[in-house]
Amino acid sequence: MSDQKEIRVRFAPSPTGFLHVGGARTALFNWLYARKTGGKFILRIEDTDQERSTDEATAAILRGMEWLGLDWDEGPNAGGDCGPYFQSERLDIYRDAADKLRDTGALYPCYCTSDEIQARNVAKGEEAFAGYDNHCRELTAEQIATFEGEGRKPSWRLRTPDEGSTFWYDIIYDKREFPNDALTDRVAIKQDGFPTYNFAVVVDDHLMGISHCLRGDDHVSNTPFQILAYQALGWDIPKFGHMPMILGADRKRLSKRHGATSVEEFSKMGILPDAMVNYLALLGWSPGGSGDDVFARTELIKKFSLKKVNSAPAGFDYDKLNHINAQHLKRLEPKQRLALTLPLLQEQGWDVDPEWRVPASNTQGYTKLVLKTLGGRFSSLLRLPEQIGFFFTDDYALDEAAVAEHLGNDAARDRLGRLADACERDLPADEPATKEAFEDVMRATADASALEAGDIIHPARVALTGQTRSAGIFEVMWLIGTPRVVARLRRAAGAE
Ligand code: GLU
Repeated sequence: MSDQKEIRVRFAPSPTGFLHVGGARTALFNWLYARKTGGKFILRIEDTDQERSTDEATAAILRGMEWLGLDWDEGPNAGGDCGPYFQSERLDIYRDAADKLRDTGALYPCYCTSDEIQARNVAKGEEAFAGYDNHCRELTAEQIATFEGEGRKPSWRLRTPDEGSTFWYDIIYDKREFPNDALTDRVAIKQDGFPTYNFAVVVDDHLMGISHCLRGDDHVSNTPFQILAYQALGWDIPKFGHMPMILGADRKRLSKRHGATSVEEFSKMGILPDAMVNYLALLGWSPGGSGDDVFARTELIKKFSLKKVNSAPAGFDYDKLNHINAQHLKRLEPKQRLALTLPLLQEQGWDVDPEWRVPASNTQGYTKLVLKTLGGRFSSLLRLPEQIGFFFTDDYALDEAAVAEHLGNDAARDRLGRLADACERDLPADEPATKEAFEDVMRATADASALEAGDIIHPARVALTGQTRSAGIFEVMWLIGTPRVVARLRRAAGAE
């Protein structure tokens, strides 16, 4: 029956911080499953913890989702028939569900403070946080009246059956089973009248028609309570799938110690949304078969299957993410490259359309031509300003080792001086020189000194670009133009 139900999945973050890798991976798997199956992807903000939830965190999560391109069909800013999609706006709904369970006796009032519970656990030789000892399960009317008389407010706990077990067939882990006598009666409604996460999530998942709860494996221990709550409310139980933990290189749960963990940090590191999505998808899932790990979004949707999600923890590998990012950068269309590059250059305060030498007539022609010279070396947005800075400023980064090796001797400096002289002498003064003209001058200068062209090209490249590797040197000369070529050669020739 439930197999034929419409597929509705959700991402339900608590807005207590940024969107982290773990949450983003959860969101992505839900999104992929919805897009793959033609189901619906719902975003619900779980902000019942008033002390820890903030509007900034909600905004950061929405920004992160938008940056990743994980669009939601229902939720904040998208509407939908099952709203509101902020739990803080659904308190009446939880109250009604709790009333139903109070009436049947499935929820009972508990007047213990957490200090009292902990003190009793310690007195019994257990850990303070060993759990609740079912102290208030069978309170009499008199006892309740006494507590109320003391001005105590109850929390409401869900009665766990004494016998049997609570289990489910996890989509990712297979059967998970908990003996009921090992479960304690957990709180559904707190003393302040707010529902706990565990109770609100059940009410919402039911009322929002969620068919599959796909979430991190840190929620496995919550699932028995949630199943018991579904049963107490007489509701169908959705399918559960708990995704494997994400570990750092030391096989400990990924945290800030390992490096960037928030989606926004990755965007600042020059990671493309498509690359991030591609890499996150591989954290616990693989399409099977051998070969490529680089997938466009549409390919991921086509290939994704919950059956291929692995239950073993997934290691987060920053190098692999960078590799995948480089592959995505290489696959970009020239137009997309340009759109990513212009703001990076402007951030450096560089003129993307410098007056010096603009071979193409439209305003973005120069940067477009510069990018063309990079070809397959367009593989890191972070390194890009360093890589192409010499096209835009005379104050470009210098590779110190290259400068020492190629410009640190009199012979090299002498050759550069001669090349500068030849450029001034032989190239047209009033119009831009072509690549071919630069090449002729270079070769003639080498011939005149009985040198190989390479003997001048290597130091010239370092002088003009600050690097040992760049685009074809004649292309560089053509793009930066004769006056700059001469000035840079002279600067290097005169250096001590
Ligand atoms: N608000 C919960 C969290 O952020 C979501 C749990 C769930 O998906 O059921 O961990």
